[in-house]
Amino acid sequence: MKSLLPALLLLSVAVSAGAAAAPRGVDLVLLNGHVLTVDARDSVAQALAVRDGRVFAVGSNRSIRALIGPGTTVIDLRGRTATPGLIDAHAHISSGGLAAVTSVNLGGARSIGEVVALLAARAKTLAPGAWLLGSGWDEGKLAEHRYVEAQDLDAAAPANPVWIDHTTGHYGTANSRALALAGITAASVDPPAGTIDRDATGAPTGVMKEGARDLMVAFIPEPSSADRRAGILASVRLMNREGMTAAKDPNIYPADWDAYTALAAEGLLTAHVCTLWNTGATLVSAEAMIARLASLPGPHSHPAGADLVSCGVKLFMDGSGGARTAWVYDDWNRQSVSLDRGNHGYPLIEPGVYRAMVRLFNDAGIHIGTHAIGDRAIDWVVDSYAEALAARPGLGLRHSIIHANIPTDGAIATMARLQRQFDAGYPEAQAPFSWWIGDTYAANFGPARAARLNPFRTYLERGVRWAGGSDYDVTPLPARFGLWASIARETLQGTWGRQPFGSRESVDVHAALRSYTVWAARQLFIEDEAGSLERGKSADVAVWDRNPYTVPTAELKDLQCELTLYRGRIVHRAEHSALRIRAGAVRASGSAASGT
Ligand SMILES: [Zn+2]
Repeated sequence: MKSLLPALLLLSVAVSAGAAAAPRGVDLVLLNGHVLTVDARDSVAQALAVRDGRVFAVGSNRSIRALIGPGTTVIDLRGRTATPGLIDAHAHISSGGLAAVTSVNLGGARSIGEVVALLAARAKTLAPGAWLLGSGWDEGKLAEHRYVEAQDLDAAAPANPVWIDHTTGHYGTANSRALALAGITAASVDPPAGTIDRDATGAPTGVMKEGARDLMVAFIPEPSSADRRAGILASVRLMNREGMTAAKDPNIYPADWDAYTALAAEGLLTAHVCTLWNTGATLVSAEAMIARLASLPGPHSHPAGADLVSCGVKLFMDGSGGARTAWVYDDWNRQSVSLDRGNHGYPLIEPGVYRAMVRLFNDAGIHIGTHAIGDRAIDWVVDSYAEALAARPGLGLRHSIIHANIPTDGAIATMARLQRQFDAGYPEAQAPFSWWIGDTYAANFGPARAARLNPFRTYLERGVRWAGGSDYDVTPLPARFGLWASIARETLQGTWGRQPFGSRESVDVHAALRSYTVWAARQLFIEDEAGSLERGKSADVAVWDRNPYTVPTAELKDLQCELTLYRGRIVHRAEHSALRIRAGAVRASGSAASGT
């Protein structure tokens, strides 16, 4: 308990609410725990009550016990810790889930030999000529520290076209058969905003970046709607197992939306999902998207209690820090200290067109999230937001800078001003980049830029609020990794030292948890509904085997979720959990918790 005062206030709420709950009692109570409410005071309680899917009261064991009736399910936390369901402000729930169900996962491979062996095993199950897909590889994790190339893949699957996406999704490798299908040869010209990697003779190596990647994936057959549906379900189940109950899915297409709406209608979407639509890179595509969104409720007009909300649009300002295609002021590095001379990355969209698109969406009252990694890209994005908002000061659109990896001081000052004046300009940042792709990042950013990666402490000092995320499947989905990485800033392998990003920008667990709860809730436009455990909010709760506020930092990564509630319903219970759950004897139709 942080102090007595909040507890007493909560107690009085619980007692006055108690009369209203009789005689059946509330639907569910959690007792004997540490309830981290993440309310404005960051208060900690012992117990919590749920009625009709909402938090009914938070308080002491005594005050919450008074709400128990014959219909109440009673969960004894036995000293465990409950938090608000964690929120991911940037996770590719649909496309990451689709990859999980259709592609070979190469994220665990530590050598090119392992990549080849994993693919060869899958190739044995495929008919000749069928596409073999993989995802999640990262040269920073491979012993050879080089890209996987076409000739490596030819050995794995000589009879199949192969495409393996890099973990960033911004580049990947094709085998020779796939290159031939797509007609990529030494004579091929790089597309605008794309790179066909070549060897010393000019022949394609199989590595295709940004716009060149698009040339290749156009030849891969569209996934079935059954696979899309299975992908979303796989992601949502993984979220629930990890105490997560809300995510913003950026970059969706109409087929994803259709899969989502079907699942939401069937009641299978056991998380709040807010989507951003891919909008292309032209004014024509922007106009078409504005027309499409006009027929859907927006984030401020959706029906109360909706699990699925169409939040806005996604734009790409630049490329990736993994591919060294993000748009930066100074030359990219290689191997940490040497320079990739003349390479400043590039914008993925013509900067003037981007600025005009921002004006169009802002004037139409549509929330914009822009992918921007490099310092030059971030400057362009925040300045574009500032210009559009000055011309038409819509309030509460919460335009975001997705990733915002290495903002300049000027960009941070602009974010702070936009947040104060317009409720816009929020970084949606991925702490786990410094871990999962941190070795590749440290090599490419170089020491000076690395120290500025994810400047969370500076954000706190300058009054900039950010939202946390994983960018799944760029990094693993569980938000506990993000809580840990916000503090630890350690890479997976330590190739360039354990902390090449330094510790100056580390924050404490209280700020880290806010970035994955209340601050993220605002970026999903569900701050009235989720993000903290307060009366009236959706009863989205995660129960953990240990207390994130008191464990050593290294253990945050190992938090085990024992129970997850979404809208007051049990959507996950760990197999070996020692939690005691006693179901209520009298069940209200539709509102009581399931699970025993
Ligand atoms: Zn992303």
